[in-house]
Amino acid sequence: MHEFSTAVGVVETITEVAQKNNATKIKKVELVVGEFSMLNNDQLKFAFEIASEGTLAEGANLIIEGQSGEIACQECGYKGLIKKQSKKEKEIDHFIVNLANIFECPKCHSNKTKISGGRDIYVKNIEIEFESN
Ligand SMILES: [Zn+2]
Repeated sequence: MHEFSTAVGVVETITEVAQKNNATKIKKVELVVGEFSMLNNDQLKFAFEIASEGTLAEGANLIIEGQSGEIACQECGYKGLIKKQSKKEKEIDHFIVNLANIFECPKCHSNKTKISGGRDIYVKNIEIEFESN
């Protein structure tokens, strides 16, 4: 499960930051998840709850922010968002992208495109709490 290993990585990263800052608790985590990261947000939230158990991040409010995927066309030089599709088509494309990283260029309809953005997942911000005395 890709989501689980991602959640473990996120928890490791944020607890390390929190510990370095002598925090007693992580209150909130803001994650940016790219459209092409192949991660399911609901599964990611669930995995985060499990992975954060017994750590400083336990019970933290997880906010997931989506980031649109971008492609670069090698035919016409277009660089930007992919064509908006229906949900069903999108699922098919996500399947294809796993196999060959192919998306059609919205400008010239070429298939000679490369993914240029929206593949990553990263921690944008965390909110931590300190002992109040
Ligand atoms: Zn093109």
